Amino acid sequence: MTRLRWTNGGIARQYGAMSLLLAIFAIVGWQPALATAIQAVDVTPERITVQFDDYVENASAFLLDNPYRLAIDVAGARAGRDSGRAGPIRAVRQGQYDPETARVVLDLARPVIFSNGSFSDDGRSFTLDIRPASRIQFASAAGAGRASFLPPMAFRARPPRGRGELTVRLPRATPAGEMELPEVQGPRGRPLVVLDAGHGGHDPGAISPFGNRHEKDATLAIARATRDALLASGRVRVALTRDDDRFLVLRERYEIARRLGAELFISIHADAAENREARGATIYTLSEVASDQETALLASRENAADIINGVNLGGADDDVRSILIDLTQRETMNISARFASLLRREAGDSVPFRSDYHRFAGFAVLKAPDMPSILFESGYLTNSSDARRLFSRDGQRAIARSLSGAIETHFARQTTSTD
Ligand code: ZN
Repeated sequence: MTRLRWTNGGIARQYGAMSLLLAIFAIVGWQPALATAIQAVDVTPERITVQFDDYVENASAFLLDNPYRLAIDVAGARAGRDSGRAGPIRAVRQGQYDPETARVVLDLARPVIFSNGSFSDDGRSFTLDIRPASRIQFASAAGAGRASFLPPMAFRARPPRGRGELTVRLPRATPAGEMELPEVQGPRGRPLVVLDAGHGGHDPGAISPFGNRHEKDATLAIARATRDALLASGRVRVALTRDDDRFLVLRERYEIARRLGAELFISIHADAAENREARGATIYTLSEVASDQETALLASRENAADIINGVNLGGADDDVRSILIDLTQRETMNISARFASLLRREAGDSVPFRSDYHRFAGFAVLKAPDMPSILFESGYLTNSSDARRLFSRDGQRAIARSLSGAIETHFARQTTSTD
């Protein structure tokens, strides 16, 4: 789970005296100098193209009623000049919505809906298709809210770390293809599991009150121990989404697994609670409806890692939501749920679990529709005995044994089943 330690408040406290200075910047509207500006907005009756002179973080689009408007927010860019008209687009206006976001507003002569938002391969332009719509279609699309789109990873600007904070642009990813895929280890021809160590880089995850240790370190140690256990027995192939202290947005985590063709995806986390007595592991699988309020809250906190990095999952969610009703997704959810009970059985007494160990939630990281996925909260960093276990080699190995045992049994069943 995630504690928002790197938000403005935390940073301001961290820098003590600087906070006053930051407050002044906030009051006078000091703006970080954005490297990127919108160069042009080209409109045709079917398509809108927004061009930039450098990388941006993301783009999102939404509809506004009364009067009909289409807005495109470009994060990480300065607004440019107003421009021309075409078809249903009466005028194109631009403004700086906030210091980091340029907003393009298209005034519409009649209702339209949009689709196929995408960035060019070099990340320097964003296009959106539009087509005429009825008033009812417009209203329902407007009600659906914002759809977000990401540039190719290699051409994505990183957001500044906080409004009002002095901005240091992080170095851009090397343009070596769209996504850097991790190494797959293990014997050829074996099924592939991808282990995802939760959090990383500037996102520490939960912080343990016992020794101020970070969730991101426990998850990485458990992922590595599980990989080692699997490689030792040689029955499956395995890859880690991260094998060092780096940040990945949630969608990248399961995208890595999908692109590698993983047959199972396990995201490893550790929980935190106000109640220090709360302890034990929990396995989450995807559901459209969360088990309960607490679970919904946990999902929103885990999912918040993306919003913090300036990336909104709205677009992906829309895609996934429509696929959720698909049988593929349902079958995937069933397989994931079966894996959850298998893992519980495999762990036996070696890893303590909560009594209601299998729960359901809408974790972003579980939303690959065609890949069985679980999110494993390995214990509570806020509980002293859990924390000791999660940060000890023995404790990590015990979890790794349970995970690797369950993974091997899962795949053995898949290959012997007749359906
Ligand atoms: Zn977490």
